[in-house]
Amino acid sequence: MNRNDMAHPLELAQVRARLTTDYVGREIVYRARLGSTNDLAQEMARQRAPEGTLVIADEQTAGRGRLGRQWLSPPCTNLLMSLIFYPLLAPAQAQRMTMVCALAVADALGLVAGLRADIKWPNDILLREKKVAGVLTELGLQGDALAYTVVGIGLNVNVQISQMPDLIRQTATSVAIEKGEPVSREALLAAILNGVERRYERMRQGESPVDEWGARLATLGQRVHVADMSADATTAESWEGWAERVDDDGALWLRLDDGTARRVLAGDVTLRAH
Ligand code: ATP
Repeated sequence: MNRNDMAHPLELAQVRARLTTDYVGREIVYRARLGSTNDLAQEMARQRAPEGTLVIADEQTAGRGRLGRQWLSPPCTNLLMSLIFYPLLAPAQAQRMTMVCALAVADALGLVAGLRADIKWPNDILLREKKVAGVLTELGLQGDALAYTVVGIGLNVNVQISQMPDLIRQTATSVAIEKGEPVSREALLAAILNGVERRYERMRQGESPVDEWGARLATLGQRVHVADMSADATTAESWEGWAERVDDDGALWLRLDDGTARRVLAGDVTLRAH
């Protein structure tokens, strides 16, 4: 099968046939083309769309990653999706939704494609040290409480190197590139949704995803460079050190060369491995 045979619109019936969930992915909003699935999902979360609602598009015209960066994908090739949740978490714990979903993506890559994925702190999924997926969790607040979370997942499924823009050609990969043949987007999507519900339910029953997520982090034990990108960072601060551990909220603890420890929150920094 060549890659053009795989570039067809998503077949939702094939996804539904594989779903074992009670609520995740049971409500599906599909668009052939959309600005950003996270934007539409946030709008729907504000209207209290059912928990587990999936927003999915075959093409995004304004796909984004953290810190306003772009997420790039040719049409009908990859998975571009967002899920809506109303977790009983404090806003500081919302990174756990990133963990639940990143672990589910890693599981699905193993189950459907037989590939072993690692996670790069805070939100990337890697195959052989290259980025195959990004997870972008966005929050809605009501006062000090979490009103909703929207978890966006961009997963490179069947995109080939030749279709990738220069910006990402050195650092990105896809399931098809690593496996050496195209993979069903529908099968991957269903496996992700099934895994997300299983893991989300475990979290709701009080099990934190942090330990498993930490165990999958390729970042730990590495020397890393962290740059503070937060809007209120008046001077561009940056630190270099050893990535020692993550804590309950998903923050990364660095050991700096002068021996001091520094806690780094995902939202405000970019990270470079050395
Ligand atoms: P980094 O990848 O440097 O760790 P990040 O985790 O902050 O950055 P995200 O916010 O997850 O990145 O995603 C945005 C970045 O991902 C873009 O700046 C671009 O470099 C890269 N990117 C964009 N589209 C893709 C894609 N389809 N596959 C892999 N990487 C991509």
